[in-house]
Amino acid sequence: MAKCAICDAGAGFAPSKQVINGQEYPLCTTCNMNYMNLGSADRNIKILAVEYFNEKASRTSEAGKAMIDKIAELDESIKQFQEEKQREKERLEYFEAHKYEMMEDLILTTGFSVDGKSVEKYISIISGEAVIGTGFLSEIGAGISDLTGTRSSAFSEKMTSAKEAAIEELKEEAVRKGADAVIGVSFQFITFSSNMIGVSANGTAVILK
Ligand SMILES: [Zn+2]
Repeated sequence: MAKCAICDAGAGFAPSKQVINGQEYPLCTTCNMNYMNLGSADRNIKILAVEYFNEKASRTSEAGKAMIDKIAELDESIKQFQEEKQREKERLEYFEAHKYEMMEDLILTTGFSVDGKSVEKYISIISGEAVIGTGFLSEIGAGISDLTGTRSSAFSEKMTSAKEAAIEELKEEAVRKGADAVIGVSFQFITFSSNMIGVSANGTAVILK
């Protein structure tokens, strides 16, 4: 049974064949599909194929080495895109490792400016959400029928913790996007049903000068 010239996997009884660097090689179905995708007009498909060969092409086989050379020659825009993706990956890894410190350093304000600093870049409008059930209201103080006393304080406690949860989510989203401040922070409350309330914290993520 023929072996795939690129990835060394079994290529089946009737392998596909491609000419690489002037020589014909048997390829497995997956390598063949990716080989054809290298010619795709869709950049994303092309990039997936490039990544596939970067990972799968055997460095020891003649065809594998020829493939690595071939994809290295592919247009510069793919290389740039891959470098951008790599930088973004590194940024996200840094974010995962340091997000809590970054969230602590983040400036939040309901205003549209930060004292002594100007906005260098507006990143995007972001939000954080939390949902609270109101079922707990019927569980406490069955004897109290209006929203006063025990019930209202339990309710405002719940609301406060929901607002905090929404803010935490907003902060996480902000630092993930590389912001160092969120301006114009406001809250919205949405009643989903008689026993669900949504709290949404919104703001504009910015980079300060
Ligand atoms: Zn293969």
